[in-house]
Amino acid sequence: MVTAFTPRTLVEALRFRDAGPSIPFAGGTDLMVRRKRWSGTTPRFEQPALFIGGLPELQGITTGDGVLTIGAATTLTALLEDGNVPALLQQAVAQMASPAIRNGGTLGGNLCNASPAADTMPPLYALDAAVVLQSAAGTRELPIEEFIQGPGRTALAGNELLVAVRIPPRQFKISAYRKVGTRKADALSKLSFAAVAEVDDGKLTELRIALGAVAPRVVRSRAAEELLLDRPLRQIADRLPEIQAAYAELLRPIDDQRSSAAYRRTVAWNLIRDFLLGLHLKP
Ligand SMILES: Cc1cc2nc3c(=O)[nH]c(=O)nc-3n(C[C@H](O)[C@H](O)[C@H](O)COP(=O)(O)OP(=O)(O)OC[C@H]3O[C@@H](n4cnc5c(N)ncnc54)[C@H](O)[C@@H]3O)c2cc1C
Repeated sequence: MVTAFTPRTLVEALRFRDAGPSIPFAGGTDLMVRRKRWSGTTPRFEQPALFIGGLPELQGITTGDGVLTIGAATTLTALLEDGNVPALLQQAVAQMASPAIRNGGTLGGNLCNASPAADTMPPLYALDAAVVLQSAAGTRELPIEEFIQGPGRTALAGNELLVAVRIPPRQFKISAYRKVGTRKADALSKLSFAAVAEVDDGKLTELRIALGAVAPRVVRSRAAEELLLDRPLRQIADRLPEIQAAYAELLRPIDDQRSSAAYRRTVAWNLIRDFLLGLHLKP
């Protein structure tokens, strides 16, 4: 038997969370797979399931204070349908799962699952996103890099819920997303790549590169980015060995059923290099 609680408001949900251990259940697309047992039996939920997918406070996408705020239980489909969501994030979501899974699966669920292969993460790292965590006692905001602590591990406390994701209002002329997978959709990434850049007068004035499924956490190297920032594009080719060395320490992929570590390391570097060398071709 599964014990479950369906709150009507966020306050009710947070009170329930405060009262004892619970398992937040948004779209259930990860939970129902990870907790399934053999056919015809109920899934294993050793703590009460807290149904938060329908909470109005966790829905919707607003631009109120200049920052884009996305409610944690906003579905992947809703992200695709909103014109304010950065193209980089939409490109990633468009290649996730099938329409049916995207209709139920949420942004918050994808982040809280904390899989190194979670497809929304590299774009959010590249966009300098933050998460808003709330408990009955109050609210705190953390950069996404601090929220994700390792495979399956986040900074979420037992009495908190992820309530929103916030993205600074920055437009980039250049952005790129690549999901490398067996199929475009319905297959988890072997690895993924997200990048934004800005070029002014032949110089690279902004650069952010993030890679998923090549280490326990998303890889973003500010040291490598700084090697190229405010430098002419024509210097990029000469600096590639230095940049490759900066990423080499961080790219620590694993062998698993989806891919080999060697393949992931090679493709990750090829994607970084091709993006950088292609910058002079961008308008
Ligand atoms: C067939 C299939 C294909 C898939 N393809 C992809 C893919 O291509 N790329 C990809 O990245 N993922 C994929 N997934 C995984 C999944 O669909 C996504 O990770 C989805 O975004 C999860 O959202 P959810 O709302 O269903 O999460 P849930 O299953 O409800 O929850 C996931 C985890 O997050 C916690 N949680 C959820 N919301 C909150 C919150 N607001 N606060 C605190 N904790 C919370 C839950 O307790 C649970 O631990 C796939 C899944 C399936 C079944």
